[in-house]
Amino acid sequence: MRIVLVGPPGAGKGTQAAFLAKNLAIPHISTGDLFRANISQQTELGKLAKSYMDKGELVPDEVTIAMAKDRMEQPDAENGFLLDGFPRNVSQAEALDEMLNTEGMKLDAVLDLEVPEDEVVKRIAGRRICRNDSAHVFHVSYKAPKQEGVCDVCGGELYQRDDDSEETVRTRLEVYHTQTEPIIDYYMAQGLVVTIPALGKVEEVTARSMEALA
Ligand code: ADP
Ligand code: ADP
Ligand code: ADP
Repeated sequence: MRIVLVGPPGAGKGTQAAFLAKNLAIPHISTGDLFRANISQQTELGKLAKSYMDKGELVPDEVTIAMAKDRMEQPDAENGFLLDGFPRNVSQAEALDEMLNTEGMKLDAVLDLEVPEDEVVKRIAGRRICRNDSAHVFHVSYKAPKQEGVCDVCGGELYQRDDDSEETVRTRLEVYHTQTEPIIDYYMAQGLVVTIPALGKVEEVTARSMEALA
């Protein structure tokens, strides 16, 4: 299956993607995680990406599309993938379609995670992630680690993302509304969009998503 997850920052895309990818046995591809890995490895791409991410703006399409394409061409993505955070504007969606068309492939579904803005802000404010593995995601009140600041899974240090500051979040939400939301109409026109109410427990949202894909 080839699936795209859309939703505002903090909607729970990464959290859901981890469970869905496991259930569906397809790789979870997050462009945000790929950029953060480049930042921690101090690559040229990481340096470039950081200058945009810190402001809450989108990293330019050219490098983002090339990075996503490269990842989707890895052998483990041959039979499907779950995209999280890509595409994030209409040009990226068009580039993805073009890439899939060339290979005679198409998307199966676009899951749109719907969460009210006040909840999204609470989710982001409390988000803590592990230095060792960005798939280890916690929340100070919704999913508190057993020991403060320490990852339950691997013992790594938990930290708050630089771009999860209040000011940057405001920009990211605006960027979401102006640049990312239009891809929902783009995919509606292809009949691919399923809206998932994403309030409630993590496992309830996963169950709704699995049902939508069945
Ligand atoms: P996104 O990838 O969309 O930015 P995340 O998956 O990182 O979102 O989730 C943002 C924060 O909200 C994290 O701290 C996560 O633990 C928490 N979270 C995710 N899903 C839920 C949920 N259903 N209920 C409460 N908190 C959640
Ligand atoms: P979230 O969903 O929590 O907002 P991500 O981890 O998906 O966060 O993205 C963090 C930042 O990485 C974005 O604000 C943006 O700067 C950059 N980024 C991630 N994916 C893309 C993309 N597809 N196009 C451009 N920039 C991206
Ligand atoms: P445990 O292994 O401690 O039992 P679970 O993964 O079963 O943890 O989750 C316990 C509770 O935390 C559930 O209600 C679930 O919805 C919620 N939860 C799980 N992962 C996250 C997350 N990343 N963010 C927010 N809440 C979460």
